[in-house]
Amino acid sequence: MSAMPVAPAETLEAYGAATAGCTRCRLAKGRTQVVFGAGNPRADLMFVGEAPGFHEDKQGIPFVGQAGKLLDGLLAGVQLRREDVYIANVLKCRPPGNRDPQQDEIESCERHLFRQIELIEPTVIATLGNFATKLLSGRPLGITRVHGQEQALTIAGRSVLLYPLYHPAAALYTPAMLKVLEGDFARLPELMGRGAQPAAVELPEAEPEPAVAAPAEQLGLF
Ligand code: URA
Repeated sequence: MSAMPVAPAETLEAYGAATAGCTRCRLAKGRTQVVFGAGNPRADLMFVGEAPGFHEDKQGIPFVGQAGKLLDGLLAGVQLRREDVYIANVLKCRPPGNRDPQQDEIESCERHLFRQIELIEPTVIATLGNFATKLLSGRPLGITRVHGQEQALTIAGRSVLLYPLYHPAAALYTPAMLKVLEGDFARLPELMGRGAQPAAVELPEAEPEPAVAAPAEQLGLF
């Protein structure tokens, strides 16, 4: 009796190639290319930002603009390089004029992010800013309230530590924010050292976000 053929496991690279022609939302029309993600496909630590900007759209690599330079510096501060981690975004295509992601775009694109998480199997996911934090935590709490507080969650069927961080672009607009980001980044090695069975910090009860956002919040960064 011959054994049943087993389909080869999908690789991150193959999944990335398959998304290159994605037309699931309106952003396909205006993009130069899909910015799938970059870094170590077996990384323990994955960063999730918001969406590609001008430079990312042109180069096809996340976080290569000003915010990316800042991210590189923050990584270096904890002895990490881009090649050690994986970097992706909630949206894989640039919104026109770098506007905020729209809800239907997030819903169309989230399958790509969840599949990336399944394939990479990180133990820590650091979300950069509000959009990634709200999507992956499944809660409406803004980044100002939850940054630096790890949460043990099941995401894409895996136990992970979700670690919300301010978006690096916030430090470009608000220099004092850099100190906060550096302080939060400093805990990353400890969180990665915990492996896949993390202890969670109790989060405050969910409260609706203020109806009128502060200026930086309007950027989706806080
Ligand atoms: N900001 C993001 O959120 N992602 C990028 O890739 C670049 C800037």
